[in-house]
Amino acid sequence: MNDIILLKLGEIVLKGLNRRSFELKLMGNIRRRLERVGKFKVYCMQSTVYVEALTDNEDIDAAFEVCKKVFGVISLTRAAACEKNKEAIAKLAIEYLKDDMESTKSFKVESKRSDKAFPMTSIQLSQYVGGELAEAYPDTVVDVHEPELTVHIEVRDLAAYVHATPVPGAGGMPVGCNGVAVTLLSGGIDSPVSTYMICRRGVRLIPIHFFSFPYTSQQAKDKVVELADILTAYCGKMTIEVVPFTHIQEEIRDKCPEEYFTLIMRRFMMRISQRIAEANGAKAIVTGENLGQVASQTMEAMASTQAVTDLPVLQPLIGMDKEEIVRLARKIGTFETSILPYEDCCTVFTPKHPRTKPKLSEVEAAESAMDIEALVEEAIAGIERITVGA
Ligand code: ATP
Ligand code: MG
Repeated sequence: MNDIILLKLGEIVLKGLNRRSFELKLMGNIRRRLERVGKFKVYCMQSTVYVEALTDNEDIDAAFEVCKKVFGVISLTRAAACEKNKEAIAKLAIEYLKDDMESTKSFKVESKRSDKAFPMTSIQLSQYVGGELAEAYPDTVVDVHEPELTVHIEVRDLAAYVHATPVPGAGGMPVGCNGVAVTLLSGGIDSPVSTYMICRRGVRLIPIHFFSFPYTSQQAKDKVVELADILTAYCGKMTIEVVPFTHIQEEIRDKCPEEYFTLIMRRFMMRISQRIAEANGAKAIVTGENLGQVASQTMEAMASTQAVTDLPVLQPLIGMDKEEIVRLARKIGTFETSILPYEDCCTVFTPKHPRTKPKLSEVEAAESAMDIEALVEEAIAGIERITVGA
């Protein structure tokens, strides 16, 4: 019999309300991600999702790696299946867990029995299999209080399963079960992490990148596409909206006082993001802002930036330390790409002395020489869409 993967659902089990629709979302997400890897059957019973290979040639290791990154899963494990009788279960445990048993000093067996017709209680089954394992591996002892290894047995509807300790899953909620938002994706360290964090809360995301060619190069854009592609392992397929930003930046440079450049630029980003959100049914704007990190990330600056949108602006990194953000960036695999040395549009026309505590009325006066509506329309008309992931 083939190894299978068992995925335990996280929070969605607790949510009671829409559990079935959450399960369906999660299974759909897993199926789509696994299509890249091979042919697998995905089904759900008793708050556990099962992933089974449909042929003997499927790469179960690769499938396991994919499943580790699917949001909505609290823990996962590979497991071997056998018939539902105690001798078959003990035999399978002895063979399948050989490496684990040979390298542990102590163990215990934990059984779960969701098939209530099974003739032994969970405790009886644990004792029986524990005895057989202890006999087969005399160098290890049973320790029910603090075992190094816990052997899990699950007697379910179709078969019995044996597995060792599960590994943590990606957590969060299935992508799509909490609606859609746009996410502002620069090539920096922060915004891929903020994208990841909101996606983990079950939100499907539409990345927006503001591109100032030729002030920022083709490589800077490629870098953003690569970051988005890395994120698809968590977020699923995404279509990046690449917004031409050069004309707006030149207008700001020519018509506005220098100390307000960054703020005015960020207000344009928000206005355009709001339009894209409206066109796509997105209900929030995600950014990678972090309190106090740069001049545009003071409370006053953020107030003037957010004044041009009535959508909620989600800033999941707002209270984190840089080291925490970097640690997450490394964990999700975006850090190495983020630190590649290509310029970002924010740094092209950086004022020497930016206003850090602007009054909204000052900012509004500073941008009044521009035809804001026409510039926003022009940028939106020039959007290029790039799809990443499957
Ligand atoms: P990051 O590391 O994400 O670039 P940062 O600390 O450099 O963030 P800023 O450059 O001030 O901060 O940008 C704040 C946020 O604005 C970013 O996290 C991102 O969400 C958004 N942003 C900045 N530049 C762009 C861009 N060119 N395209 C899309 N979004 C951007
Ligand atoms: Mg940046």
